[in-house]
Amino acid sequence: MRKTIAIIGSGFSSLSASCYLAKAGHKVAIYEKNATVGGRARQLIKDGFTFDIGPSWYWMPDIFEKFFNDFGKSTSDYYQLDKLSPAYKIFFSDEVITIGDHMDQICEEFERIEAGSSKPLRKFIAQAQDHYDIAINKVVLKPGISPFELVTKDTVTRVDRFFKTISSEVRKNFKNPKLISTLEFPVLFLGAKPSDTPSFYSFMNFADFGLGTWHPKGGMYEIIKAMKSLAESLGVEVNTNSNVEKINVENGKAIGLRVNGNTIDSDIVLSGADYHHSETLLDQNYRQYSEAYWDKRTFAPSSLLFYVGFNKKLKAIEHHNLFFDTSFENHAEEIYDDPKWPENPLFYVNFPSVTDKSMAPEGCETGFFLIPIAPGLEDTPELREQYFDIIINRFENITNQNVKDHILFKESFCVNDFVSEYNSYKGNAYGMANTLKQTAFLRPKLKSKKVDGLYFTGQLTVPGPGVPPSLISGKLVADLINKN
Ligand SMILES: Cc1cc2nc3c(=O)[nH]c(=O)nc-3n(C[C@H](O)[C@H](O)[C@H](O)COP(=O)(O)OP(=O)(O)OC[C@H]3O[C@@H](n4cnc5c(N)ncnc54)[C@H](O)[C@@H]3O)c2cc1C
Repeated sequence: MRKTIAIIGSGFSSLSASCYLAKAGHKVAIYEKNATVGGRARQLIKDGFTFDIGPSWYWMPDIFEKFFNDFGKSTSDYYQLDKLSPAYKIFFSDEVITIGDHMDQICEEFERIEAGSSKPLRKFIAQAQDHYDIAINKVVLKPGISPFELVTKDTVTRVDRFFKTISSEVRKNFKNPKLISTLEFPVLFLGAKPSDTPSFYSFMNFADFGLGTWHPKGGMYEIIKAMKSLAESLGVEVNTNSNVEKINVENGKAIGLRVNGNTIDSDIVLSGADYHHSETLLDQNYRQYSEAYWDKRTFAPSSLLFYVGFNKKLKAIEHHNLFFDTSFENHAEEIYDDPKWPENPLFYVNFPSVTDKSMAPEGCETGFFLIPIAPGLEDTPELREQYFDIIINRFENITNQNVKDHILFKESFCVNDFVSEYNSYKGNAYGMANTLKQTAFLRPKLKSKKVDGLYFTGQLTVPGPGVPPSLISGKLVADLINKN
């Protein structure tokens, strides 16, 4: 039966759900509080420089392709995808590791650092591929309703991999601390410490070394533009500057929204805004999870971000650059165990203009700097400046060049902005972490247990943080709505 569906938010998960729901014949409208669509993946354009505000790593190209294929389209109908070669660079205090765009190059680099390490690497990545096939083709496509979803012949025979951690698995096979950090880096996208992340999640290592790092020409926002255009072609109505103030419920059934003071009627409400915030749009008796519940969850980090325009081309850098020249363990402790501003932060810098001329004016460089920090930290202009000085000095020393005198402008984004722009819980950047206790059926549910016709999607529910999981989350919730 054709239903009217009101969707809160226009991030990847909402846009994905809107496409599947419209394709199934429903009348779908999106209500987004901000002036532009895309949520955490919005874009900043300033003085000819183009920045992706949030995500910059295009991993798991198969998932993007599958999404567009579901609508008889291909990614190439909307954007040009290039495989980055090299994929990225990691700067340690005394060495640089370059990750190439295929396994043979990566093995050579591992051998250079630790003789004999390419053999265990190939074995580790073969197992990671096995995990990827099971995770992506079977596990993540489950709606997280029951524990039995995880019980398949593939998972039962690999059950130990849910109880061992990625950290112990990596350390069993590799001794060199730099190689250990290199192999622990991909699971940071899942939001938790490698020592708290099940070894089954090594599928992220296959995504990294096996499938490679890609770049949509024009930046990640091209994907958002593509999805918006697809959604509109399927009949979805997209409303921006539309702040949802309340989810209206009558006799235990969602009946619509209050948007900018106006009542919008609908048969179904779906929220792709952060789950915690979405529940605050309900009267207390209709909320499923208490404040204490949220407070006890492990959230993915927040971030201090800088968007910097440089008036020259920089040297010794690649498109993606990780600065692991300080202790990974200490910084992780300051995010998860003893939340505070990090003493010696690791950081990440993205220069899309290195491979994509369209991202910066000629002869210039577009720089995106990211320091992961604990969610909920105090955020002041002074702290932001202090940390910019720390990382820009380190960047200059390690890459051996003056860049400070070549900054045309810089903008910053941190905890307070995550809260004000996205209603993010404690200013988290990418949702709730994927730890063993926060996996699959143990995550907040797609369907409300207290309000009929109310559903949730996005990085706080299944399958978890990241752009590819958000696309899948939208499909899972649409399937659930269509079944009910
Ligand atoms: C700095 C950063 C770097 C990242 N890097 C990567 C990466 O490299 N690769 C990767 O795959 N992933 C990355 N991620 C994660 C990825 O961006 C997210 O997982 C994904 O974008 C989340 O999509 P979503 O739909 O769940 O939520 P969101 O994008 O947050 O969408 C929620 C939407 O709801 C809207 N909203 C909230 N409240 C209301 C309201 N009351 N009324 C109306 N609208 C409302 C918000 O404005 C927002 O548009 C990164 C995230 C950040 C922040």
